[in-house]
Amino acid sequence: MGTTMKCRCCQRELELELIDLNHAPPSNSFLSQDQLNAPETTYPLRVLVCEHCWLGQVDQHKDAQEIFGNDYVYFSSYSTSWLDHARRYVADVSERLKLGREAFVVEVASNDGYLLQYFQAQGTPCLGVEPTGSTAQACRDKGIEVIEAFFGEQLGAQIARDRRQADLIVANNVFAHVPDINDFVEGLKLVLAPNGTITLEFPHFLQLIQRRQFDTIYHEHFSYLSLHTTEYIFRAHGLCVYDVEELPTHGGSLRVYGRHVNHEALPVRPAVQDLLRRESDLGMQTPEFYRSFADQVTSIKLDLLSFLIAQRRQGKRVMAYGAAAKGNTLLSYCGVLKDLLPVVVDLSPHKVGKFLPGVHIPVLSVDEIRVRKPDFLLILPWNLKQEIMAQHAYIREWGGQFVTAIPELEIA
Ligand SMILES: [Zn+2]
Repeated sequence: MGTTMKCRCCQRELELELIDLNHAPPSNSFLSQDQLNAPETTYPLRVLVCEHCWLGQVDQHKDAQEIFGNDYVYFSSYSTSWLDHARRYVADVSERLKLGREAFVVEVASNDGYLLQYFQAQGTPCLGVEPTGSTAQACRDKGIEVIEAFFGEQLGAQIARDRRQADLIVANNVFAHVPDINDFVEGLKLVLAPNGTITLEFPHFLQLIQRRQFDTIYHEHFSYLSLHTTEYIFRAHGLCVYDVEELPTHGGSLRVYGRHVNHEALPVRPAVQDLLRRESDLGMQTPEFYRSFADQVTSIKLDLLSFLIAQRRQGKRVMAYGAAAKGNTLLSYCGVLKDLLPVVVDLSPHKVGKFLPGVHIPVLSVDEIRVRKPDFLLILPWNLKQEIMAQHAYIREWGGQFVTAIPELEIA
């Protein structure tokens, strides 16, 4: 008997299990050749859903906070499509909120300044918050001021006191990754000017369930959020959601606009009620909505294994593309080892020459595709499928085909 888990948002007891992915190593702990000979630590990976606030959350086992909470890594952002996304956002939000030279913008998880650089270019004063030293420095190199720390209530109070409150707070792809979500939202509340706006972007729990994106579950991804739950957390801190947009990023994300509850000059847009109703109509506030997910994930596993076994028996060559957290969760859960999948290729020079955690499949350079001429290239980051298929269309020259496993096995 384990101890009872409490919801990290509302403290109620958790009983509803979404999925148990058994044990998995930390998703970004790529191994060197030497480390293959050493014992490897894995941690339970299970998602529970609170039946009061409907927050999906990874099981808080004994050391989770220490292991995954203290050095959580913000998403980095090198791709041109992500930069375009940031540039368009800055143009749109500046127009919408009339942010000029008198405004003040704070970005939490400012990374290397990929987004703040566009505010800086238009002359809007801004400040980044980024705990990772190397990326914080890259941001400073662009001439942008950065506080090198984790964001929460304490830092929020400090910025409001020592600097000023923000007309806009931006936090992209960090909300779902903070270990203490209440502390984080309280920090936002303290930094936010009385008539200011918060925008958050995070993967939508609805999409995870409907598109069976179980490979986006990993230890550092603490929270799985609907609009309903976001509104619940905001309300608990005197904030509310006044607009929402659905974005295609990360397999389906929400961009939520928040403000102080009492700043009623900003009306709540119809999009908020529309999406809350859609979530509710689909049953997101009922346990039944979550109960078939585990069986659907098992089907993905069976289909992928059947495919790999069939190819192996016929002597066909299969390679995988993209050594990242998603692929690690998928391969680790399905138990795919190098006898079925000998190689994963990746663009990042930091990963080439290493091995995937848990399953120990070697990571090689993308050049290996032309060398080994695989019959099938299994695309692990399905969110980049179109981009990857276009870049590697040359595999058609030798009859190669592309494969994705999620939401279901597809060969193209
Ligand atoms: Zn709860």
